[in-house]
Amino acid sequence: MMDMTALDLRDRRVLIREDLNAPIRDGRVASDKRLTAVLPTLDGALDQGARVMVMSHLGRPTEGEYDAELSLAPVAKRLSELLQRDIPLVRHWLDGMDVVPGEIALCENVRFEVGEKANDERLAKRMAALCDVFVMDAFATAHRAHASTAGVARFAPVACAGPLLAAELDALGAALRDPRRPLVAIVGGAKVSTKLEVLKSLSGRVDELILGGGIANTVIAAAGTDIGRSLAEHGLIDFAAGLLRGEYGNASIPLPSDVVCAESLAPDARGRLKAVGDVGADEMILDIGPATAADFAGRLQDAGTIVWNGPVGVFEHPEFAAGTGTIADAVAASPAYSIAGGGDTLAAIEQFDVGDRISCISTGGGAFLEFLEGRRLPAVAALEDRASSAVPGA
Ligand code: AMP
Repeated sequence: MMDMTALDLRDRRVLIREDLNAPIRDGRVASDKRLTAVLPTLDGALDQGARVMVMSHLGRPTEGEYDAELSLAPVAKRLSELLQRDIPLVRHWLDGMDVVPGEIALCENVRFEVGEKANDERLAKRMAALCDVFVMDAFATAHRAHASTAGVARFAPVACAGPLLAAELDALGAALRDPRRPLVAIVGGAKVSTKLEVLKSLSGRVDELILGGGIANTVIAAAGTDIGRSLAEHGLIDFAAGLLRGEYGNASIPLPSDVVCAESLAPDARGRLKAVGDVGADEMILDIGPATAADFAGRLQDAGTIVWNGPVGVFEHPEFAAGTGTIADAVAASPAYSIAGGGDTLAAIEQFDVGDRISCISTGGGAFLEFLEGRRLPAVAALEDRASSAVPGA
């Protein structure tokens, strides 16, 4: 891939795709995280004297319909404050933008445009016509072949990776291509079905696969243990049994020995510690128990590389948060190179305040999972294709 930092951007019309899909509350940006992440990229282009245009999506509007609730106006305002310069928001940006060198403007929500999600070629060409250089910098949307992420890269005169995307791909790639062993993955969360391919792929690449949440419940059931009313996908029991038998790889899969159960998830629900074989017919497994958490933490201490996606319990409820807390602390305390990603994982990292002790936190949810599956992300593929072909659109 071509790299933005290697290009001379002076006076160039530079169109940058970022992920500024920040939470908005009462018309204001509620978390600066995604905005502060892009500041070095934008500063880098502005310092070079580029004419900077920034694209992003926000939420899931209906294409072709302007929706004031999903306007990027609050983002433009907050980004202006953070960059300490004026950033106009351009509503009809596809008709043309006039940005002087060293200045920056924000395009209104790309998902207002018909054809964005279908990667419509005409729309991608209109985006490409705005610029001399297209910069893809949004890892979190790189798994989507949309007009603003992949299509535009085919037609822009030059298409390259931005520093944020390049850094994230480098960190994840290095950790998984040639990992320091043992390589230990933690895959938790609600459903096996959303992580089926990740589980298959990781079981062939990692030394140990630690499971949690509804995924672990399904595997416990596949091992023949009664799980009462726990969240599990009974249609995937055969898959889970195959995973345990090593049909997809040789990773060892340690199963929980103790669990925290309750009959409901009500705010006043109290957890009961049980051996995994003693779960009652009316109970649900909602967290791993302390003995299991200590066992998993020990494995993480001995790891060379850790990949973490998904909580191992209902960590949003204080009664069932301890297991995920122990895992978060163990990942942070381990001397291993650690990478973590996914929406709920990021929330857990924040809740347990371990972010500054994890080696690489991926900004992507779906993109992170597809990366772990070993898939080529469409937006990255578009940049790689361009790097190997000199002719725009060829
Ligand atoms: P995911 O989006 O698939 O990573 O799932 C994350 C969600 O799984 C979180 O909201 C957790 O509360 C939930 N979860 C984790 N463990 C369990 C469990 N044992 N039973 C029910 N839900 C769980």
